[in-house]
Amino acid sequence: MFSCDYHIHTQLSGCADNEFSIEKIIQIQQERGIEAIGITDHDYSYQSKVKRIQAAREAIKEADPSIEVHFGVESQMLEYQVTSINIRLASYFDYVLMAPNHYHLRGVAQPRSFRDPRRVALHEIYMFEAAIACPITDAVVHPFLLSPDVFQFSTDELTAFAQEMMRNIEQKRLIYQLDLASQRGLGIEISPKMARYNQHHLIEFYQLCLERDVKLLIGSDAHNAKQLEELSLLTPILEELGITDEHLWHPRA
Ligand SMILES: [Zn+2]
Ligand SMILES: [Zn+2]
Repeated sequence: MFSCDYHIHTQLSGCADNEFSIEKIIQIQQERGIEAIGITDHDYSYQSKVKRIQAAREAIKEADPSIEVHFGVESQMLEYQVTSINIRLASYFDYVLMAPNHYHLRGVAQPRSFRDPRRVALHEIYMFEAAIACPITDAVVHPFLLSPDVFQFSTDELTAFAQEMMRNIEQKRLIYQLDLASQRGLGIEISPKMARYNQHHLIEFYQLCLERDVKLLIGSDAHNAKQLEELSLLTPILEELGITDEHLWHPRA
């Protein structure tokens, strides 16, 4: 029923598996019966070279897919009104996924403390607001999802910390942003990472997204073939949330 995945990295992203090519991804997803996918490498993978972007688009065409294959990019907010990609480069892609919390990357503004849930909450909402306000954003990926690589807590500690962080997000401020996202037709990503990292605090956030009429983008954020399968971790969560096709975000054709 939920047969789309709009956040997939290829070997072009340095952090992805070396063998994870566009051709391989398309082949796997066709065999699995997925209907629509999006190839979304990190913007820096192209080193600002239009030729490299065009070559990737060409590779999709040459793979001659029998499923819908969109061509997007993952960028990040560095701070308010400052993105890692510029408007000209962004225009070469079908859509831009904007990450508000890529704290592991150079130039991304960081919370004053990674050990104080209140500070992290203040920073997360600030970066979320920045991503929503950014004119080139089509969807915001993994908001309020805390990466174990950055926070360096045990899984249980991170679960508890993330819950405490979410309690410190001011609801009115969050709802205002979700209403803006809804008006602009921006997607918010729902990712199997929340299951992988036990981040239950996100359930309430997704519920709020649905209440405010924000469309959810399904994205595995896969960096290898195994992670493509992890999308199935979302099935019980999507059922619990009562998500149907009308709640889902899709790239414009
Ligand atoms: Zn990301
Ligand atoms: Zn990603």
